[in-house]
Amino acid sequence: MIVLCAHRLYTPQEEIRDPLLFIEDGLVSAVSARAEKEIPKNATVVDFRNDGLGDAILAPGFVDIHMHGGAGLDVMRASLAELPHLNKFLTTHGVTGYFPTTVAAPLDQTCAALERLADAIEAAQDSHAGNGNAAEAHPLGIHLEGPFLSHLRRGVHPPEYLVEPTLEIFERLWQAARGHVRMMTIAPELPGALEVIAEAARRKVLVSIGHSDAVLEAARAGVKAGARHATHTFNAMRPLDHRDPGILAEVLTDGHITADIIVDGIHVAPEVVQLFLHAKGLDRAVLITDAMAATGKPDGTYQLGPIQVEVREGKCTAGGKLAGSVLTMDRAVRNVSKFANWSLQDAVRAATLNSARAAGLAQHGQLVPGAEANLVVLSPGGEVRRTFVRGRAASS
Ligand SMILES: [Zn+2]
Repeated sequence: MIVLCAHRLYTPQEEIRDPLLFIEDGLVSAVSARAEKEIPKNATVVDFRNDGLGDAILAPGFVDIHMHGGAGLDVMRASLAELPHLNKFLTTHGVTGYFPTTVAAPLDQTCAALERLADAIEAAQDSHAGNGNAAEAHPLGIHLEGPFLSHLRRGVHPPEYLVEPTLEIFERLWQAARGHVRMMTIAPELPGALEVIAEAARRKVLVSIGHSDAVLEAARAGVKAGARHATHTFNAMRPLDHRDPGILAEVLTDGHITADIIVDGIHVAPEVVQLFLHAKGLDRAVLITDAMAATGKPDGTYQLGPIQVEVREGKCTAGGKLAGSVLTMDRAVRNVSKFANWSLQDAVRAATLNSARAAGLAQHGQLVPGAEANLVVLSPGGEVRRTFVRGRAASS
């Protein structure tokens, strides 16, 4: 048994002062205030109050459900042997689980990438069963961003690879991914979209409306068919107009759906981030990075799937359009505190519990008994000091 001590802990719904976190077999076995529980004599105690600062906060590891790459690697192109390099990079930013996310590409290439990602996900599950012990972020499922996107709101997804939704193509992608598709971004107004939404939802995929020019009724029809989330709210969406409300009115006013946003200060103005957080609230706002290969690397030219992206001073563009980000989850959390004056605890929640709940990841995103012991040690300012995956400290 391992017992972690710190100044505070965010479950994240609750804050515990002077907490003890008990870990057994990679899972959280108990969480309590120090005064309420004895530390067993045979336990290994890691006391973060003795770090000279005494202000360490334990929080769940961040879960990023929209991530294309980092540390120079693109998830559609990286080999199985290269992915651990990305996974380790992610843990330095507090991420313990993520959804590698595709972009629109030739169908054969997409299927080849899905097979590789399925291998990586299954290898991570195997290591969970005791066949490996790398303390690094794990791919938990695949997010298909495309190919069922609107031509009008495609962003940088190449138009030649966008297709109208059909059950046949969805099935092909599903088979290539061996059922590991956990999220799909789709424009609900496309012909055939509602049928594909309903089938994906039936398979427990988090269907997310986005890259969409939908009017209000079409967006609502998508939700009625089974969509429960929205992808990078405001970006690649029909803009909000007060007399032609469109998809954004549905995303911002429907209390049943969750929505994510890129809080890098580039994709969405800080004031609009505030508006979003106000609308979606503590339970339904989700932070993503939409990060691409250049994350953690110097300015230059990088690949995003089949797309060549220029990165200058943290801004990623292709043909003058925004093309992913170099945002990290820890910075997204700090930005939420800065832009909207949310407490660190609330900002952490949008990067952990809310993401995991939206994506149906019951063992992630919270520090409660039975959850995986995936956690991050934070400073009061939200800087990552240490990350643990399944109870093991990642090398920092
Ligand atoms: Zn993306």
